[in-house]
Amino acid sequence: MTAQLDEKVEPIYQEVLRRNPGETEFHQAVREVLESLGPVLVKHPEFRERKIIERICEPERQIIFRVPWQDDKGEVQINRGFRVEFNSALGPYKGGLRFHPSVYLGIIKFLGFEQIFKNSLTGMPIGGGKGGSDFDPKGRSDDEIMRFCQSFMTELYRHLGEYTDVPAGDIGVGGREIGYLFGQYKRITNRYESGVLTGKGLDYGGSLVRTEATGYGATFFVKEMLRVRGESFEGKTCLVSGSGNVAIYTIEKIHQLGGKVVACSDSNGVIHDDKGIDLDLVKQLKEVERRRIQDYVEFRKHAHYLPGGNIWDIPCQVAMPSATQNEINGRDALSLVKNGCIAVGEGANMPTTPEGVRIFLDAGIAYGPGKAANAGGVATSALEMQQNASRDAWSFEYTEKRLAEIMKGIHDLCYEMADEYGMPGNYVIGANIAGFIKVAKAMVSHGLI
Ligand code: GLU
Repeated sequence: MTAQLDEKVEPIYQEVLRRNPGETEFHQAVREVLESLGPVLVKHPEFRERKIIERICEPERQIIFRVPWQDDKGEVQINRGFRVEFNSALGPYKGGLRFHPSVYLGIIKFLGFEQIFKNSLTGMPIGGGKGGSDFDPKGRSDDEIMRFCQSFMTELYRHLGEYTDVPAGDIGVGGREIGYLFGQYKRITNRYESGVLTGKGLDYGGSLVRTEATGYGATFFVKEMLRVRGESFEGKTCLVSGSGNVAIYTIEKIHQLGGKVVACSDSNGVIHDDKGIDLDLVKQLKEVERRRIQDYVEFRKHAHYLPGGNIWDIPCQVAMPSATQNEINGRDALSLVKNGCIAVGEGANMPTTPEGVRIFLDAGIAYGPGKAANAGGVATSALEMQQNASRDAWSFEYTEKRLAEIMKGIHDLCYEMADEYGMPGNYVIGANIAGFIKVAKAMVSHGLI
């Protein structure tokens, strides 16, 4: 069900498949961008001459390392650590760390590849990178998490620096983990280098709004997509998958803008609450007590827990996938469209399969792909770096205002670029082309490196 690749681009994609066997998520992410780039090569022959697409698909550096640590029983555990430094044309490598058992090189490369274009769209001076480990934090004690983070940083520190590579959080990595990673970096290097990590705690160089930024930003993006269609969140029934950091602050902002989120989820099941999700309860369960979402119905008897349920079968007008990659397949996309969904904004990275994307685009609904819609997280990381560099700390109101402006800027850029390339309203084309061109121009300026 995927679109044809332009004849100039097809051999490049074939070469990516050949050089990166078995990395299916990476192939998917590359193909999705390459599908948009044919017309760009016509307008910019210099990109073709300098083999910019070929170079952009090959990471500048890939680091894979052993992470040994001891669990609470004294048993030795071995995990694998990754950092893929993908592209530094626009600034130091920037992107999160993911700790999840599904992590392998193909996942980190898909995320790192997406990050190049996402970071470019923010307009901030940041390159693209991503890292993580197949470590599973689920059920681990606080001490185990600390020991793992310390061991992970004991290798990774030599590759980092505020002008080199600046990690942050992603799935399985939040404020607690960033704290342990920062502490170990500081200890090993004997440097208080605030700008080496983002998503830090507020007491030691973190930025207000960074915690909320991905979810708030994705909601601002959808607000803009609705606005150009003469719509708003007011009174809309919404679905937000997941119940982690992105989902929680997406729900918060949707509620502030007058929408009603009736369902959220985790990897075990779905909570359906017709009266609207009680966000304080979700925060208490997930952020404070680190429990599973099914416990929600213990406290809200009218709500339903659907073990193994499919959130996308619940009727809604706005859907915001905020869990993980490929969580919406073709069937789910059809179900959403049939049930009256008019807008989809991706808080997660690549949550919709290529078949699902095609269905959204063909149906003509407003579809905001992750690399545009969820860029508010990394954009606010760049604002954190800016505050660290000037040894300043901004207010919540000012920082949120900056985030809202950045998201409107990304929306408008994608919208206008889609228009310019003859595909009005297609934010996939708009995001890929706008994100790519800026990086490509910088790469041409830097010569063959
Ligand atoms: N992991 C987030 C993302 O997917 C944030 C990265 C960052 O703040 O560097 O963009």
